[in-house]
Amino acid sequence: MKKICLLGATGSVGENTVAVVTAHPDQFQIVAFSFYQNKEKGRKLIQKLQPKLVSVATKEDAAGLSLEFPEIRFTYGIEGLSEVVADSEVQLVVTALSGSVGLLPTLTAIELGKTVAIANKETLVMAGALVMNLAKEKNVKLLPVDSEHSAIFQCLQGENISEVEELIITASGGSFRELSRKELVNVTLSDALNHPNWAMGQKITIDSATMMNKGLEVIEAHWLFGLTYDKIKVVLHKESIVHSMVSFVDGAVMAQMGASDMREPIQYALSYPKRIPMIQPKPFDLAKIGALHFAEMDFERFPLLALAYETGKMGGTAPTMMNAANEIAVAAFIKGQISFLEIENYVEKAIKLDNYVKNPDLETILNVDKETRKLVTSWL
Ligand code: NDP
Ligand code: MG
Repeated sequence: MKKICLLGATGSVGENTVAVVTAHPDQFQIVAFSFYQNKEKGRKLIQKLQPKLVSVATKEDAAGLSLEFPEIRFTYGIEGLSEVVADSEVQLVVTALSGSVGLLPTLTAIELGKTVAIANKETLVMAGALVMNLAKEKNVKLLPVDSEHSAIFQCLQGENISEVEELIITASGGSFRELSRKELVNVTLSDALNHPNWAMGQKITIDSATMMNKGLEVIEAHWLFGLTYDKIKVVLHKESIVHSMVSFVDGAVMAQMGASDMREPIQYALSYPKRIPMIQPKPFDLAKIGALHFAEMDFERFPLLALAYETGKMGGTAPTMMNAANEIAVAAFIKGQISFLEIENYVEKAIKLDNYVKNPDLETILNVDKETRKLVTSWL
């Protein structure tokens, strides 16, 4: 029985993780989890999962829930996230939080030698070197949950990374893939949230429309697989059937395919190195799908992807700034404070090279993250 801590249980990856775990009650158990604002869903999950420890947003929430569920221990805030991870029973941590709040509990998990199934890509973007160095030092496995990285990870099983020519990450193109830049001027939030292939949380759905998500994934791939950016390519693939590919020095290309169903990469991360049956799999019939399409990525159409390569290659705090600015800009777009195209402007403007640090420690990263958020917020 694998004992799991699920950070972000009320979110989209959280919900899919709960589905995988409850479909295999003989193999997995969620002993601790966290949620934030969605108390109604959080309550239902407490009843369903009967965990021993739960982290919530505030002290008041924790006190209220303690009265309701006296047999469960509640904790709260950013420290609460690290506390649920640190519970002695927990063997594997799923980081399904959205945004930079995932960094500290991920570091705690690694510090304590717990396997991490990483969905929270922002953590690797803002502090990739720090996270990977600690994982190496503590001999901790980081198992990818993001479908593209899971696909690459699956293609690499039994292979030697030194024989890889390129990682080829597929991109659906997001909600606005059929629109020109001119047509993006007046798009609305509900247009942006209408993703053609995947049902996901709001932030990542907007990131998919700006192609920032693919940029974050390029940086995530760099850290997870240790390849330089010239060996990481992005190709448009509107069907989202090929989840990603790896080409090798001998010309062979391996692709991992499947339905657009996040339960698949989540389950692989939980059951790794084994494969276990998918309960109620989504139908997947290539003959019915008929054709798969691939196209060159247009970096002018999607400038945030170009920016991610640029900041990724610079390393240090450059991606930290990009990520923080993007989080604030996307939140502002969701609140209706800025237009869709302003997200790009804000992110580009926030990368301040006079503040750039090449080899930052944790304190510097947290500080740059905070300062960038403050700066972008001051423009709203
Ligand atoms: P959601 O927005 O659906 O869920 C986010 C979760 O984090 C919720 O449980 C939310 O709690 C919690 N949360 C949000 N802010 C805070 C905070 N400040 N403190 C503590 N908890 C917080 O996100 P997704 O599930 O879509 O994405 C999660 C991560 O996985 C992201 O990094 C995303 O990029 C990545 N990912 C997601 C995929 C998907 O299919 N959705 C695919 C691949 C990667 P509450 O709702 O209770 O407020
Ligand atoms: Mg992805």
